[in-house]
Amino acid sequence: MKEGVARKAIYRKDYTAYPWEVHRLDLHFDIGIETTIVRAEMALQLRDGARAPQDIVLNGSDLQLVSIMLNDRVLNTQDYIVEGETLTIPGAPQNSVLKTEVEIHPAGNSAFEGLYLSGDFLLTQCEAQGFRKITWFPDRPDVMTTYRVTLEADKTGFPVLLSNGNQTDAGELPGGRHWVRWQDPFPKPSYLFALVAGDLSLVEDHFTTRSGRDVALRIYVEAENLDRCEHAMESLVNAMSWDEERFDLEYDLDIYHIVATNDFNMGAMENKSLNIFNSKYVLARPDTATDADYQGIEGVIGHEYFHNWTGNRVTCQDWFQLTLKEGLTVFRDEEFSADMQSRAVKRIRVVRDLRGRQFPEDDGPMSHPIRPDHYVEINNFYTATVYQKGATIVRMYHTRLGESGFQKGMKLYFERHDGQAVTCDDFLAAMADANAARKSSQVTACPSCRSKYSFMPFWKPLSPSRV
Ligand SMILES: [Zn+2]
Repeated sequence: MKEGVARKAIYRKDYTAYPWEVHRLDLHFDIGIETTIVRAEMALQLRDGARAPQDIVLNGSDLQLVSIMLNDRVLNTQDYIVEGETLTIPGAPQNSVLKTEVEIHPAGNSAFEGLYLSGDFLLTQCEAQGFRKITWFPDRPDVMTTYRVTLEADKTGFPVLLSNGNQTDAGELPGGRHWVRWQDPFPKPSYLFALVAGDLSLVEDHFTTRSGRDVALRIYVEAENLDRCEHAMESLVNAMSWDEERFDLEYDLDIYHIVATNDFNMGAMENKSLNIFNSKYVLARPDTATDADYQGIEGVIGHEYFHNWTGNRVTCQDWFQLTLKEGLTVFRDEEFSADMQSRAVKRIRVVRDLRGRQFPEDDGPMSHPIRPDHYVEINNFYTATVYQKGATIVRMYHTRLGESGFQKGMKLYFERHDGQAVTCDDFLAAMADANAARKSSQVTACPSCRSKYSFMPFWKPLSPSRV
């Protein structure tokens, strides 16, 4: 929060859909450490029911605007309004193509959101609202679109240029420069965008999916860490097999990247096909790592991989639904670890962790529901309650419905919502409809947390405990 600027609370009940559909986003990055130039072109169409003309409202932060064009007309400063983190173009027609060019400054970005310098290379962190530090865009999870990304840079400083999706083209440029193009065919929200540019070394393996797709698995690390990637790669292969066998979910692209860096200040991030990890969750060698390190790597590699379906293919309508992707994916990674190791030991660890971290949170001033009703700063809601208690609520579905009932619910959830941004209620409805369960009119709230059970109101909790 900027000093002296009071930020207003955002309420879940105030949600309104974005009036525009973004049909595609083309991004071009001219990469430099001090200054990177970002050109964006997006095709917008008003949703059914929205009457033209409508304002186009975009989010941006710390962007130096070079130019902006709407339907090939250059806009002057009187044609749009910039207020705080929003840019408004009044009265745009039904179908609009918007082109912007901005300059950003990765080396000077100390917020570690958006594009920033980590050691000698550049990388991104966009969850929850970092994409607005890269370009003007409706930076909200319910605006999903397909991305085509072209990265251009000096070949010596940035031999590796990565983004989401499959690589579709590449070439040389004069002056020792080169370019690479990436296309992600699956619509995604902006928080899943990623870019990595730098001099990184590579460990490669392959995985063949059940339907026969050959997937290149690539882990990029700093050169001195090349001998410590074996366990992470093995964990990734195991996670891909496990998700096919247990959840009937296959990987959907030709390539899967993991980039590990010492300087990533989040644990790990599930950007579509380009996960970025703190090295701690990737690197291990028998002479330096403990059993707990090995188990931690397996769990986190699995967690980020499992997001490909629970989070990426089906994402959250708004940030209030964070537990929809995190609670569900933590449940999935707990089950993965239980199947890979000892189920009993894993369960004891999960409960000890819950009691050690989440119970105190619920007992103190930080107590909040797994799906909050309002927030001032969403980054403060990446909590043990949203993650671990959220996973426990999902476990209660599983306990009540059994493995086959739960899997029926998951199947229906993906059939209904693949490619959509949805809510916890949609998950509940899929679970209930697939199992013909009782609906919410028969709710009995948990006596100890009442509204905190809003995620799963259609049955009475197992016991009046806090989880
Ligand atoms: Zn997660």
